[in-house]
Amino acid sequence: MALTGIEILKMLPKTNCGECGVSTCLAFAMKVAAGQVEIGACPYVSEEVKEKVGEASAPPVRTIKIGKGDNAFVIGGETCLYRHEKRFEHPTGIAVLVRTDMGEEDIAGRLKRFNELHYDRVGLVLKADLIAVNDATGDEGAFTSLVGHVQDECPDAALILMSEHAGCLAAGAKACGDNKPLLYSATRENSDAMAEVAKEAGCPLVVSGESLGDAAELSEQLQGMGLKDLVLDTGARTIRAAFEDHVAIRRASIRHKYKALGFPSICFPCKMTEDPMLEAMVSSVLLAKYAGIIVLSDLQGDILFPLLLERLNIFTDPQRPMVVEENIYPINGPDENSPVLITCNFSLTYFIVSGEVEGSKVPSWLLIKDTEGLSVLTAWAAGKFSADLIAMFIKKSSIADKVNHRNLIIPGYLASIKGELEEELPDWKIQVGPREASHISPFLREWQPG
Ligand code: SF4
Repeated sequence: MALTGIEILKMLPKTNCGECGVSTCLAFAMKVAAGQVEIGACPYVSEEVKEKVGEASAPPVRTIKIGKGDNAFVIGGETCLYRHEKRFEHPTGIAVLVRTDMGEEDIAGRLKRFNELHYDRVGLVLKADLIAVNDATGDEGAFTSLVGHVQDECPDAALILMSEHAGCLAAGAKACGDNKPLLYSATRENSDAMAEVAKEAGCPLVVSGESLGDAAELSEQLQGMGLKDLVLDTGARTIRAAFEDHVAIRRASIRHKYKALGFPSICFPCKMTEDPMLEAMVSSVLLAKYAGIIVLSDLQGDILFPLLLERLNIFTDPQRPMVVEENIYPINGPDENSPVLITCNFSLTYFIVSGEVEGSKVPSWLLIKDTEGLSVLTAWAAGKFSADLIAMFIKKSSIADKVNHRNLIIPGYLASIKGELEEELPDWKIQVGPREASHISPFLREWQPG
């Protein structure tokens, strides 16, 4: 049974030393009870207390790792119902399906696209994460051979092994070695055998019910057999049923701490339609509400990229803007005659501005000032991108040593601080750049030192 914050506080040293990153033991205890931090963050608690509090500190949706060691793909670990309450912890895994009854070309195409469809966006690489290998024929040899082939071709992929036969799953898991796959799946008919395979291989196991209630009962049964790492499949194969089940699972686990449903889910848009566009739409709905893994029939850029962007937006921390480091960024090989631009460290601004500068082909110096992740106007309004702070940054940066002119291009939206900045930086001539990033390229091509 979960412990309250006060009960947890009684087990803490109560010295308020702050080493856990929280200022008081009481605040720390409250966070532990809410599942927001691990009890182990306090270096002074005994193993006995860690074990006792473990239940209370565990997130209501269990964290499941698929793959190898530190590089494992992680799902679950969620602590809230809505992103704005805190943040969603682990992004939905995007998987592509390959089957033993597919032709070699079909399989090769999917694996190739898995490896090649990578997108750089705001400093992150967006890509699919898992490959689901489906034993469509019950042929153990063909299955393990395909598992080995997938591992050789896509060493970065976390694997889902799918078979109705416990023997095939056991052989497939063995072929994976320490790259622990997710095993699919235990049903009412085969749960004993599948539980043994999962225990023996040390792999997480999917609980496959015919309905939400069925999956919950089976989950309780498997937990009773000592299995801790489970993933839920409620058997829903329509968007409405899958949507309802996912919302019910999340509410039951977060609001009611219902242990039978306290696990991430897997769902199969690939089995809900044969229309790729509809499959993408189903996936986008389930990605938002609250799928742990979605399995796609294929990977195509026009479908994968929007899903990856949606995922990026949902799984960023709303309380922490994405930032880039305060620094001088050389673009297109600048020299002492190149223009100098400055902007904020909100990552989207940086990547848009740096992309435009790069596209202009004009060698330039881009100065990024730490504005705590705020965009230009917001940072200015919050006093984090004011003339005195910009001047301080320019003086402490080594940009004056890199150029033989003294021209600084500020964002068009900061035109109002031009005079103030010239007072703060008397050696520099302040030039007002364009308001819109799309106008940077022509601006730079015509730029002349003042
Ligand atoms: S590290 Fe432990 S003792 Fe120190 S404030 Fe945190 S909970 Fe209290």
